[in-house]
Amino acid sequence: MNECIFDIDPKLLSLASEAENECREMFEKIDSNAEYNGQKVLKAFIDNRVSEVCLKGTTGYGYGDMGRDTIDKVFAQALGGEDALVRHTFVNGTHALSTALFGVLRSGDTMLACTGKPYDTLEEIIGIRGEKGNGSLIDFGVKYEQVDLVDEMYPDYDEIANKAVGAKIAYIQRSRGYSLRPSLTVEIIGKIAETAKKANPDIIVMVDNCYGEFVERKEPLSVGADIIIGSLIKNPGGGIASTGGYICGRADLVEKCADRLTCVGMGKEVGCSLNQNREMLLGFFLAPQVVASALKTSVFACRFFEKLGYKTLPESGETRTDIIASILLENEENLVAFCQGIQKGSPVDSYVTPEAWDMPGYDSKVIMAAGAFTMGASIELSADAPIRPPFAAWLQGGITYPTGKAGVMLAAQEMYNKGLLRI
Ligand SMILES: *Cc1c(COP(=O)(O)O)cnc(C)c1O
Repeated sequence: MNECIFDIDPKLLSLASEAENECREMFEKIDSNAEYNGQKVLKAFIDNRVSEVCLKGTTGYGYGDMGRDTIDKVFAQALGGEDALVRHTFVNGTHALSTALFGVLRSGDTMLACTGKPYDTLEEIIGIRGEKGNGSLIDFGVKYEQVDLVDEMYPDYDEIANKAVGAKIAYIQRSRGYSLRPSLTVEIIGKIAETAKKANPDIIVMVDNCYGEFVERKEPLSVGADIIIGSLIKNPGGGIASTGGYICGRADLVEKCADRLTCVGMGKEVGCSLNQNREMLLGFFLAPQVVASALKTSVFACRFFEKLGYKTLPESGETRTDIIASILLENEENLVAFCQGIQKGSPVDSYVTPEAWDMPGYDSKVIMAAGAFTMGASIELSADAPIRPPFAAWLQGGITYPTGKAGVMLAAQEMYNKGLLRI
């Protein structure tokens, strides 16, 4: 058993040690993917001749920003696209997704959501929630159709084929967001893309790739997706990028998105990088390894809490396609103690006690634990939970495995201190 600096009950320590041993096989797979993806990223740096000049940024208009343009090429190569738009001016993942949707869709086009209702923040962008007249896609004359998952679990291929006819975009969400459906593997994304394109060869397959980057060896662009979108304070920022997002894929589509982000006719040519280039390059370089740390933290947390008697989604032994896990903690007391324990194990604001509160936009109270270097960064160890059945904590991140593991053990210890654990 490893020596532990923290005051963790010996029974918990021994369970943690057993759990870790039982994760060995999973860890080996994670390491082997990280090695492969690390090489992929290194090769993209080498092939695109990243130089010291690229680490420096520009001001003003940002004409001829070599760093910015090189970052686009590095992302494109490593993620398997023709081109990319990687910008710190994307305020979050939602903004990048919104830019991609408004960039590609025109009045009269149909957006087909192939994997059920998209992530919560997309609802107002599409126009299926919120006021009329606020500038949503529907406001601009875009039509919206949705194919729900069968049993809230599996893609409905027949319905996707039916509805793809006449649609402009087939939209796929890889990670499950705040639902309890399984996340979609790259293989399944490929099947959806194939189904949609068989029915409509012109359809554009767009994937919300949030939380998925570098978890598998392939990204959706190599199995038929045309454009993928993600956030830099999740996987591809490697815990270093302070903000931003990316859009990557077919060059003609990336160009449309750039015109939407800046101005028609200026697109990718403008937008100074200030001093974000070094952070973005370093973060992307570290990302495969950081994602591996987050995955190990997640797999360990699932195994450990399974041993403590709780159900987790996915189960500890299941193959991953994103870094998210839900731990079903059965009641509010457990959930609150768990999140408070995660906060106690955070490098920043460890002394703060998170409480459940009525957050705008949610229909139940929410508690969030996040002691991160970057505000809201969920590649760093964090947990959040709506206070409602099945009282699941969504756990993600961990930029190093040893500290992620410690945070998870401290969460269990907090539950134990409050008399909530049966061991
Ligand atoms: C995080 C996430 C987003 C974007 O969320 P932001 O908080 O705006 O970055 C979109 N879709 C999914 C599935 C996500 O996990």
